[in-house]
Amino acid sequence: MTTNQQLFDTASHLMPGGVNSPVRAFGSVGGTPRFMVKGEGAILTDAEGREYVDLVCSWGPALLGHAHPAVIEAVQAAAARGLGFGTSTPAEAELAELVVGRVSAVERLRMVSTGTEATMTAVRLARGFTGRNLVIKFAGCYHGHQDGLLAAAGSGLATFAMPGSAGVTEATAAETLVLPYNDLGAVEAAFEAHPGRIAAVITEAAPANMGVVAPGEGFNAGLRRITEENGALLIMDEVLTGFRVGPGGYWALAESGWAPDLLTFGKVIGGGLPTAALGGRREVMEYLAPLGPVYQAGTLSGNPVAMAAGVATLQNATSEVYEHVDAASLRLQRSLAAALDAEGVDHSIQRAGNLFSVSFGTSQRGVANYDDAQAQESFRYAPFFHSMLDSGVYLPPSVFEAWFLSSAHDDAALERIEAALPAAAKAAAAA
Ligand code: PMP
Repeated sequence: MTTNQQLFDTASHLMPGGVNSPVRAFGSVGGTPRFMVKGEGAILTDAEGREYVDLVCSWGPALLGHAHPAVIEAVQAAAARGLGFGTSTPAEAELAELVVGRVSAVERLRMVSTGTEATMTAVRLARGFTGRNLVIKFAGCYHGHQDGLLAAAGSGLATFAMPGSAGVTEATAAETLVLPYNDLGAVEAAFEAHPGRIAAVITEAAPANMGVVAPGEGFNAGLRRITEENGALLIMDEVLTGFRVGPGGYWALAESGWAPDLLTFGKVIGGGLPTAALGGRREVMEYLAPLGPVYQAGTLSGNPVAMAAGVATLQNATSEVYEHVDAASLRLQRSLAAALDAEGVDHSIQRAGNLFSVSFGTSQRGVANYDDAQAQESFRYAPFFHSMLDSGVYLPPSVFEAWFLSSAHDDAALERIEAALPAAAKAAAAA
């Protein structure tokens, strides 16, 4: 048997840090990353044959659990017809129709391959449409690894305490205004300070890359009002929340008479294969080539195998699926809080829709923005994480990430997680 450590040693000689995406390296929790060889329902199996209840769910896509039979069947059937032709295929419109049917703010959609591409294109489109250069993003929000949006980004940059990325030019960084999340006053002040120069505000529909931070009452609607008053576009990044927190994503959950100009999707839309998309108002979307002057393209965009995975996933993401994930999430939040309370570990459970995360030492102040998230007792997470891992529960290897559930997390899976919580809470308390 090849051990996880042997696999990591081999990988470390071939790939920077032994990984193809930084957070996988267990950098903030320490220890040997697990090399998974199989996923079925809520269970992952590593190279040593150990099983884990999975609370990462591929960082979101696996809403139906791993290897859902309908998704696998659709992917196999599509693959048997050929892996891609570099032409249009019928499945692209099938997936687009499912998205448009679920998210009324989407009048036109373009498929890309990653969430990064989706937000990168959305920003370019907003600049092309408005003829302006500046973009507002919020500290702690992650929108992928495009140059302009890496400043004070959450996700792996939070995990590794990186304020931004080397290699981003000053000129590029200067075109991004980074503001504190949940602070409409700061947004109004930025528009006053840069009249006629801000192309767009981009925000996670509900941030989940600095841990979960719910938008305050009226925050997203306030962004809509301010952008509209100032002739700027509002881009809601639903790469993580889209089709996960509800049939149409986070915006559609609370939809109340306003709509963003553009939305970005990823993760669930591709059912585990590399697909993402941007969509929104027809007038804006038709600024994209070949109709408009904003160029964007992709050899693998709308790949038929990926489309088949997305179609099968959305077709099977029924209201029962969302009810199940919502209920499982609430149950786990309660069990987690009870286990931590029993050990006297000060914490708060942060939630937005069925997404949640835990932060330590934050019960007094709460967590409304990136400063709050970073001020927590994050040192308690590593022992908590490793205790859970030893008990066969695979959590995100960073306190700044959300916990993901699926429709395959049945009573048996939840009971296994709950059985692991008391020892992990004890480990967090002792940290
Ligand atoms: N936006 C959000 C909100 C995300 O959570 C992520 C990835 N976690 C991205 C964009 C980037 O997506 P990708 O990793 O597919 O490039």
